[in-house]
Amino acid sequence: MDHFLYRDGVLHAEDVPVTDIAAAVGTPFYVYSTATLTRHFHLFDEALEGMDHLVCFAMKSNSNLAVLKLLGEMGAGIDVVSMGEYLKAKAAGVSGDRIVFSGVGKTRDEMRVALEGGIRQFNVESEPELEALNEVAISLGVTAPIALRVNPDVDAKTHAKIATGKSENKFGIPIATCREVYARAAAMDGIDVVGIDVHIGSQLTQLEPFRLAFTKVAELTEALRADGHNIRRLDLGGGLGIPYERSNDAPPLPLEYGEVIKETVGHLGCEVEIEPGRLISGNAGILVSSVIYLKNGEGRDFLIVDAAMNDLVRPSMYDAHHDIVSVVEAEAAVDQHPVDIVGPVCETGDTFAKARNMPPLASGDLVAFRSAGAYGAVMASEYNSRPLIPEVLVHGDQFAVIRARPTFDEMINRDTIPEWL
Ligand SMILES: *Cc1c(COP(=O)(O)O)cnc(C)c1O
Repeated sequence: MDHFLYRDGVLHAEDVPVTDIAAAVGTPFYVYSTATLTRHFHLFDEALEGMDHLVCFAMKSNSNLAVLKLLGEMGAGIDVVSMGEYLKAKAAGVSGDRIVFSGVGKTRDEMRVALEGGIRQFNVESEPELEALNEVAISLGVTAPIALRVNPDVDAKTHAKIATGKSENKFGIPIATCREVYARAAAMDGIDVVGIDVHIGSQLTQLEPFRLAFTKVAELTEALRADGHNIRRLDLGGGLGIPYERSNDAPPLPLEYGEVIKETVGHLGCEVEIEPGRLISGNAGILVSSVIYLKNGEGRDFLIVDAAMNDLVRPSMYDAHHDIVSVVEAEAAVDQHPVDIVGPVCETGDTFAKARNMPPLASGDLVAFRSAGAYGAVMASEYNSRPLIPEVLVHGDQFAVIRARPTFDEMINRDTIPEWL
């Protein structure tokens, strides 16, 4: 459920007509709903009720400072994957003891900054990383709390580019051999082993892969405890999918996901962390764009809009589907017509949808891409020298620009010309 609904024939973001925002900021732009972000965070928090837990928002899905501050103030932890994300989480007011550092290639600089600034735990993905972290911690005279990210060799049954839990993926340490790595970690002076971490992929639409992975984590917990490790925290990653197509079967609910967690690891008495990104931010955002032209081609018609693959790359990168709707609601009786919805970028990949049924639209009309709050703005680029588009946050009947559109001068002046040219 989200808070982007039609009222009096106009799409609203909470209580604000999307047309008002478009008039104020110009298109294209992203809009996020405070009420939806809040609701989704609480769904996870409630799903783990009765267990000692922390919901760590995976900020790689949406890293706007205002979004982080909102979630941080509700008590969320943050899952970060780079120094930039770590510093942004801190800048949003989230304390280090609620920040988890994930990622397969943490540098020593990143480790040092996080150890100095405070960190809840590092999710370590390899032995070389473990050795580096040990050395950095010793050089600072501290110990680094860690979980080892184990690779459970489970098929997440999702898009190949976002599956991470099979043995052929680059992520984690094979679960079958990780007991030796735990033994090595426990012997290191700069390392404090606190738990186990697992994350099998993104946009999972079934619970079974989670159940398989968490069951393996539970078995590993018992084995490691028998080896003498004080395993007290389990980080179960993120990955629960969202309904991108309203017409399709809905993925499992956070509550059902929480049941799987309780059934598989509930008996262990561990503190549980989860790292949802997409399910918190995905349906909390839309991308609003204007129609530039309707072009009648041979055998197909193109709706050319002012958003492009540089603003929202998911369709060209992952073949992702986004529902695309007219901001001014079409009359129920009106004939829909199949069109290819494309952006102005000079690549055939700049196609958002093929043969999508749309009501008649004309130059200047507004369309909204639903479910664009996750892996949208964060993956944007200035390809084709198209400035990054603004982000707007709505709260009830208020809205604010939370990242401004750079001017063309700002974009141009980021480059410098060497003296000798
Ligand atoms: C991407 C990622 C997440 C978030 O995944 P979602 O599908 O957005 O919930 C969580 N943890 C790790 C380690 C990730 O890489």
